[in-house]
Amino acid sequence: MTATTPITQDLVTIPRKLPEGPVNLIGLTRPLLREALLTAGTPEKQIKMRVNQLWQWLYHWGVRDFESMTNLAKPYRAMLAENFVIALPEVVSKQVSADGTRKYLVRIAGGHEVEVVYIPEADRGTLCISSQVGCTLTCSFCHTGTQKLVRNLTPGEIVGQIMLARDDLDEWPAPGTGTGVDGPRFLSNIVLMGMGEPLYNFEGVRDAMKIAMDGEGIALSRRRITLSTSGVVPEIARAAEEIGCQLAVSFHATTDEVRDKLVPINKRWNIETLLNTLREYPRLSNSERITFEYVMLKDVNDTDDDARRLVTLIKGIPAKINLIPFNEWPGAPYQRSDWSRIEKFADIIYKAGYASPIRTPRGEDIMAACGQLKSATERARKSRAQIAQETGLS
Ligand code: SAH
Ligand code: SF4
Repeated sequence: MTATTPITQDLVTIPRKLPEGPVNLIGLTRPLLREALLTAGTPEKQIKMRVNQLWQWLYHWGVRDFESMTNLAKPYRAMLAENFVIALPEVVSKQVSADGTRKYLVRIAGGHEVEVVYIPEADRGTLCISSQVGCTLTCSFCHTGTQKLVRNLTPGEIVGQIMLARDDLDEWPAPGTGTGVDGPRFLSNIVLMGMGEPLYNFEGVRDAMKIAMDGEGIALSRRRITLSTSGVVPEIARAAEEIGCQLAVSFHATTDEVRDKLVPINKRWNIETLLNTLREYPRLSNSERITFEYVMLKDVNDTDDDARRLVTLIKGIPAKINLIPFNEWPGAPYQRSDWSRIEKFADIIYKAGYASPIRTPRGEDIMAACGQLKSATERARKSRAQIAQETGLS
């Protein structure tokens, strides 16, 4: 790899010659993989076949060394080993909850850490993955939002989380065997609900999801991938067009006054602006309905009036409302609503014609529940001034 001109695909630009030696193949979309292999000297007339072969080794069989890629000639394998690596983030620790939830602490380049959570259920297994280290947004009920350090994860680090979980679940088909996509899977669903705001790492998330959705590899259907956003309005239509996965929105309040406090990005794009954008999403993305996430905070957003306002606001949008009992973390400024309150709230929504599942808190004993994720090494709290400066919201 000697050329220095960049490879461009859509909006992603990666340098042909990466500063730190060999290029990591994990995280390159098909067009980028093609470019990388061509640059390394693969003849044009072989390129299609080589991309397909490598793709299958990497993402279908989960193989991590070039030596095992037995349908490639030895000299070609040597060429690959000279120019490329197959590198995943490193699992530093794994905790298993009493309810079977698994939490992985994963170290990425630079020594930062992110958390990944696997939630087994009767009919599915959901992996909750992270898109950033920390989060620049500062939702007042969210533990991740208090983390000081923030950086975007690369596509390889995002799809790498899925691959690591599949390693742990021992879910790669044996090399040479078929897809197995029809049978039940341990890891059947992905939610981008770990650390970070996925729409503030748009290209990274998009490319990683393209790889995860590719039918000749990990092959997760776009219907089984849900991206959760706090409401980054300008990127929502783009997500519909360029990713096409299911969308969840962290709604959490029914007036701008309360939402401004809970989800400060509301000061930039308020409830009305957000809802107008959401009306278009299902049509643009071909998705069925939008999930409205609503965290139940005692005496803050949990009245009957809130429930009624919520159904009025979302009228006309194909929707499901996911009620999340607040997951407390040390020093959290809120409490979870009483169970009877949550049930009453759910009942009002249900009677208005919407599915209103109450999300069972999972993995609480290992701090793996929604909004509790924050890497152990970076527990420092941001100052108010720093938060205001970073978000431009004061
Ligand atoms: N940044 C994205 C995705 C990550 S958060 C977003 O905000 O949507 C995933 C979900 O967990 C969001 O709905 C978020 O609001 C919610 N959440 C955050 N902290 C929580 C907590 N302590 N208890 C319950 N839900 C929480
Ligand atoms: Fe960031 Fe989402 Fe937490 Fe808000 S709820 S601080 S957007 S991770």
